[in-house]
Amino acid sequence: MFYKSTRNSSVRVSSAEAITQGISVDGGLFVPEQIPELTLDEIRAVGEMKYADRAAHIFAKYLTDFTEAEIRYCTDNAYSTKNFETESIAEIAHLFDGTYMLELWHGPTCAFKDMALQILPYFLTTSAKKIKLDKKIVILVATSGDTGKAALEGFRDVEGTSILVFYPEDGVSPMQKRQMKTQEGSNVGVCAIKGNFDDCQNGVKAIFTNDSVKAQLDQNGMMFSSANSINWGRLVPQVVYYVSAYAELVKDGEIELGDKINIVVPTGNFGNILAAYYAKHMGVPVNKLICASNINNVLTDFINTGVYDRNRKFYATVSPSMDILISSNLERLLYIMTGGDDAVIREWFGKLASEGRYEVTDDVKAKLKEEFAAGFCDDEQTKATIHDIYDKFSYTCDTHTAVAVKVYNDYKAETGDTTKTVIASTASPYKFSAAVLEALEGKASDIDEYDKVDRIAELSDIPVPAALADLRTKPERFGDVITKEEQKDYVLRTLGI
Ligand SMILES: *Cc1c(COP(=O)(O)O)cnc(C)c1O
Repeated sequence: MFYKSTRNSSVRVSSAEAITQGISVDGGLFVPEQIPELTLDEIRAVGEMKYADRAAHIFAKYLTDFTEAEIRYCTDNAYSTKNFETESIAEIAHLFDGTYMLELWHGPTCAFKDMALQILPYFLTTSAKKIKLDKKIVILVATSGDTGKAALEGFRDVEGTSILVFYPEDGVSPMQKRQMKTQEGSNVGVCAIKGNFDDCQNGVKAIFTNDSVKAQLDQNGMMFSSANSINWGRLVPQVVYYVSAYAELVKDGEIELGDKINIVVPTGNFGNILAAYYAKHMGVPVNKLICASNINNVLTDFINTGVYDRNRKFYATVSPSMDILISSNLERLLYIMTGGDDAVIREWFGKLASEGRYEVTDDVKAKLKEEFAAGFCDDEQTKATIHDIYDKFSYTCDTHTAVAVKVYNDYKAETGDTTKTVIASTASPYKFSAAVLEALEGKASDIDEYDKVDRIAELSDIPVPAALADLRTKPERFGDVITKEEQKDYVLRTLGI
């Protein structure tokens, strides 16, 4: 299996190269040359395996340059009860008749990004060894909250790596800040920037592309790499849990092998739902992929009209991980849907950069309609949905997941489609405790973050994840606050060069 760049189809690299490079030199994203096949018999067999083995089975089809032992090394380190609170890793909760919650948040940071970021460090270090890049990998991350913490947990104490995370001093939630400042591990660093997320991100990008910094790293046996969501090494682990969920439902007798399901995904950067698309085209029987957005509904409009237009107001919502106007992974979908037409991808994404808008062809519009349904909801509807499913089913979900539930309910009412449905549940309700508690109690409360967590625990029957419970008493290790001008020197100093 080789990987092509969405902006230059003549680029052809191995998975190890795609993962270490992160993004192609032409600015394109790496996509597998073809989507490997998974038969129904294989799916049945996958249902009999434990999660790490399910993952190894899927990875063997995509990472064909990895040996079986290398894949095992990655899966066994990532997907064990050492890192996840449930044996099944991706737990399925039955919400109501024919609707299932795929709980992807039982990892160390309580959001679905752990599913990929627990394994990415092993993919990266293994890939670097394979292509004989005998260097220490330095990960720089700019974060608005969830990604930074998940990357820190993934890379902590992984041999041959070190990680440095920058966050905006006043731009993350109190819980997220505590999570990062108390981070454990001997190869980690965390620093606040006096500025907003863009300042952090621009600073990191400037350091990544600074030739003299790169040369200094090289002289010291180090190289930069990236843990953000355009890396193929973050996408492929997400395909696994959709295959896993389907196989599990067959095994439990909830569906017959071959029955179709719908999959609903609360979407931001389009990574998670694209993984579901890959699972479908490998062979998982899927009827509709339902793309759920919050009021930043650029994707809803795109799927319904074929026009992508980011020229609109940006809203900060109670589902902040979906507050996004440029969904990077859409580029991969469009590359597939145009039959690998790199010229048209360059044209559309060039327009997106210059005018903030592009329109796809009628052929692609038809394909989008056939594969996807899309909807959105606002914060009031999100909170009302949390309240409603708590009332009806005694189930507490987070704000992102609630967006998906609401959009699914609307879809069902509109279409009458009764296909059994898996909803991707992307975060623990405790992670967004202020909005969740407000939704449950019907009013805002001014008690502190930890008291909110305790209060939700009283109301719901979901235990507080150990990782969040420990935060209250954990010592803070990282208190540095710097300006964006100091960022480069800070990186070099921290690396000891
Ligand atoms: C990142 C994130 C999303 C969005 O996922 P994408 O892959 O970017 O579409 C949704 N919910 C939560 C909780 C997240 O952290």
